[in-house]
Amino acid sequence: MSCLFCQISQKKIPSQVQLDTDDIFAFNDIHPKAPVHILIIPKKHIPSTAEVEKIDTEILGKMILSAKKLAEKSNINQTGYRLVFNTKSHGGQIVDHLHLHLLGGKMLGPMA
Ligand code: 5GP
Ligand code: ZN
Repeated sequence: MSCLFCQISQKKIPSQVQLDTDDIFAFNDIHPKAPVHILIIPKKHIPSTAEVEKIDTEILGKMILSAKKLAEKSNINQTGYRLVFNTKSHGGQIVDHLHLHLLGGKMLGPMA
């Protein structure tokens, strides 16, 4: 599998790791859009939210709980943060492996 985020989660490509569990991996975005910008991904290859299935319900919940935990670790849980799933081209998705953006550490502008 030549997927970039599969390779990052398998540590074949280095990243600044924030979380590494049996089924979830999280790492700093290489081009941060905010002081805190972490990508939370399932280790299972799912292309986008458009392909999630009922069997993925647990992993989706774990992604949000991981975001909560990382927001606490990054000290942005009190000031607040934004969680974003970009989906396919109109949604601005560049990497075709499901990922949740955790953004915070500054006042974020209005959504596009
Ligand atoms: P998307 O636009 O697909 O929702 O977000 C993909 C994100 O992945 C972008 O914010 C981009 O900066 C980040 N990204 C792309 N390639 C790499 C990489 O090789 N390493 C890391 N850490 N982040 C990457
Ligand atoms: Zn993948």
